[in-house]
Amino acid sequence: MKNNIIELRNISKSFDGEKVLSDINLEIGDNEFVTLLGPSGCGKTTTLRIIGGFETPDEGEVLFDGKKINDIPAYKRNINTVFQRYALFPHLNVYENIAFGLRLDKGVKEEEISRRVKEMLKLVNMEGFEKRHVTTLSGGQQQRVAIARALIMNPRVLLLDEPLGALDLKLRKDMQNELKNIQKTTGITFIYVTHDQEEALSMSDTVVVMDQGRIQQVGRPIDIYNEPANAYVADFIGESNIVDGYMVDDYKVYLAGRQFECLDKGFEKGEPVDVVIRPEDIDIVEAEKGMLQGMVTQITFLGVFYEIIVDIAGFKWMIQTTDYAEPGTIIGLEMVPDAFHVMKKSEYSEMFGDYSSYSLEIDQLSETLDEEELEDEA
Ligand code: ATP
Repeated sequence: MKNNIIELRNISKSFDGEKVLSDINLEIGDNEFVTLLGPSGCGKTTTLRIIGGFETPDEGEVLFDGKKINDIPAYKRNINTVFQRYALFPHLNVYENIAFGLRLDKGVKEEEISRRVKEMLKLVNMEGFEKRHVTTLSGGQQQRVAIARALIMNPRVLLLDEPLGALDLKLRKDMQNELKNIQKTTGITFIYVTHDQEEALSMSDTVVVMDQGRIQQVGRPIDIYNEPANAYVADFIGESNIVDGYMVDDYKVYLAGRQFECLDKGFEKGEPVDVVIRPEDIDIVEAEKGMLQGMVTQITFLGVFYEIIVDIAGFKWMIQTTDYAEPGTIIGLEMVPDAFHVMKKSEYSEMFGDYSSYSLEIDQLSETLDEEELEDEA
């Protein structure tokens, strides 16, 4: 069992009568790198601010090491924050910016401050920059100083709110690696906010996918990607074909006009489901050898692979493959049972119905089902 440092229990929060967080429950382990991921306005920052003590929940409890901290003010929590905009002191040099928090404690000797600042500069790869004025630093360097300034206080938890949001792509990637290393080296729990799914998947031990003030899924990056809990998560994390279907039986799913083997079980017979098929999990073969056939309507070379759009009975599927296929030709599609991720129909299927490739009428397809069993179910 993991040792939780932060727990959120039934947290709700409204602003001006609008609910922005609904019944959030979350456990964050000591030394964990946890990322809150979701689109703009889904409540990530509000969750972070509640953990930091900058916002009070309307309902629910915030626990730190198992103790309720709702009433503990931000400055007394052993938590520090790095914001997207660096918020450094422009009149101070790098050294003084980093030393700032320690200097507030009159008991800390100059030697100790010097030792700690040097340690922090090394940690964030900024040795030799002590005397530089922060206004002369690049965005990435300023953000390193901000991180050093937060870490010098030895917090148990560091909150990072889109800290790389203002950096260009290349720098972002470099900083992602560095942040992960800093987290590992220090063992401090990082709670990171981003709307960038790639960033979340590449850095985190645990990803928390949020939407409209609710947690949609909590899991390791690989599980979130491979086993999305619902159509919303599947659509938000990477690109997906999301197809309407129904479960014929355990390990048998019907979609796109035929039955496929899959690895999913436990659904009702005949239960309508969303089936997620990742574009990279589809192989293309000769038309007559394919499990499905469709016409290539578009092909784009994306550097490492082609992205092919195939029209299957009026619905567009996306395939990512290193094989070329000529637009206008009919190709076959092949998928292994592992490629089908079957999930319960969610409210998102209703809301975003148009991203489902297929809309099959259950009665049209019932010949493959045992009619009597269906009647029994009814
Ligand atoms: P972003 O990535 O855009 O920052 P987010 O997921 O972090 O989005 P929040 O900043 O938590 O989302 O905001 C959630 C909702 O709460 C938004 O609709 C926002 O406008 C609203 N909100 C946040 N803070 C306040 C506030 N102090 N007063 C009123 N509304 C607020």
